[in-house]
Amino acid sequence: MFFIGIMGIANKEKKLRVIPNLICKACGKLTSYRLVKTYKYFQLFFIPIFKWDERYMMISECCGSVFQLDKVQGEDLEHGKDSILNNLNMTIVEDNSCKTNILCYNCGKSVEARFEFCPHCGNKLR
Ligand SMILES: [Zn+2]
Ligand SMILES: [Zn+2]
Repeated sequence: MFFIGIMGIANKEKKLRVIPNLICKACGKLTSYRLVKTYKYFQLFFIPIFKWDERYMMISECCGSVFQLDKVQGEDLEHGKDSILNNLNMTIVEDNSCKTNILCYNCGKSVEARFEFCPHCGNKLR
């Protein structure tokens, strides 16, 4: 087939910005979120012709949980209207807050396994 590879559908994820000092809705920590926009697009001769299914996602840096924003709020955040942060309407898509914890051997507190340093005492865990 001659046309294979000339047209197709692809998924794209675009990182827009980082929003600091928000509480993670999954684990309750003060964290920052990455705002990303995902969409699908149809391309012809490697040129995107049109895109659809745009979604705004927020990914918390603390535990990597994924939230979906409604589109209006996503666009506002993309354009720096941080005043809406007090009134965010996020739906949790993937809750990663209950990943396995380990015990810090210095202070004995429970720490998320992905941490490099204990947040309670600063001890290096790995
Ligand atoms: Zn979290
Ligand atoms: Zn510790």
